[in-house]
Amino acid sequence: MSSLRLLVLVIGGVLAALFFFLLLKERHPLSQGRFAINPEVFFVWDDSKKLYKIEPNGLETLYQGPFTVYFPSPYQPQAEEVAHALAQILQVAQRRLSLDLGAFSVVLVLLREDMGGVFIESWPTKPVPQFLVSSMKWTKLSEAPRPTRLMVYAVFPHEAAHLVLMWEGHWLEEGIAEYIGFIVVQELAPDLCQTYREGRQKDVREILPRGTYDLTREPLQEFVVHEGIRLKTTSPEEGAGYGVSLAFWLQIAREHGETIIRQFVEQAKSLSQPTERELARILSNLTGEDIWGKLQRMNLQEVLQILEQAPCESSSLTAP
Ligand SMILES: [Zn+2]
Repeated sequence: MSSLRLLVLVIGGVLAALFFFLLLKERHPLSQGRFAINPEVFFVWDDSKKLYKIEPNGLETLYQGPFTVYFPSPYQPQAEEVAHALAQILQVAQRRLSLDLGAFSVVLVLLREDMGGVFIESWPTKPVPQFLVSSMKWTKLSEAPRPTRLMVYAVFPHEAAHLVLMWEGHWLEEGIAEYIGFIVVQELAPDLCQTYREGRQKDVREILPRGTYDLTREPLQEFVVHEGIRLKTTSPEEGAGYGVSLAFWLQIAREHGETIIRQFVEQAKSLSQPTERELARILSNLTGEDIWGKLQRMNLQEVLQILEQAPCESSSLTAP
């Protein structure tokens, strides 16, 4: 074989490998023949600042039961605090709803001045970690800033719930995930309860003139490309859905007792990837209510009231 033919073969092989790599990465075409990265997870809080890519290289790992915490080496105390909080969160979900949240992982990210967001393009192990972006100027989680604690006590239980539920339905699952976040805040960080509730109310108020919300309709997925990264955006309608779906479950707990939610989760677990309709049928059988009809016509004014009246201590919610 001539050296020229060998060179052509080698280049051809490299190009084919590159092509496959691009396919595997599910990159999305941009203008001028460039590609947008489709991240596995991202968290953006200020799109006028830089997006940082988070990679496992150089991070330490803390394994504790079903949890994994990745952290830059100076932050071992913070990693241990997060692992401890995750164990407490697991206990709340287990005791209140008989739900085993299972495996969950977190990556600690040191907040920088120019940082407006973080993303993971891919991660070698599953589940892909959730971010805890913080200044790290704390060693006890109880002394951490509110956004850090809200992430741990409200967002982590919500995301952990998705890892075990994986229903085909949309808002019923989001609502249960929200409800789990709410009961964890109630029990483990009651001082955050008001902030959490107000955040959900604010999103509902944005679409208040619409009067009602249909929780049987899945929101449209919309994306933007920012710095070559493809990011899912949240419309006001979708944003409000979290508050509405939380209110739906808070109302079920208030009128029928939390035991109904526990029974609902147990029955739903026995089905593989149940649809929204199947889930609604289970809940109708348990409550005797027309759940599908209720989901279709959630009154937004009533939603605001339910969120307002949701108790920030756990005792009053558990009693029917
Ligand atoms: Zn969710």
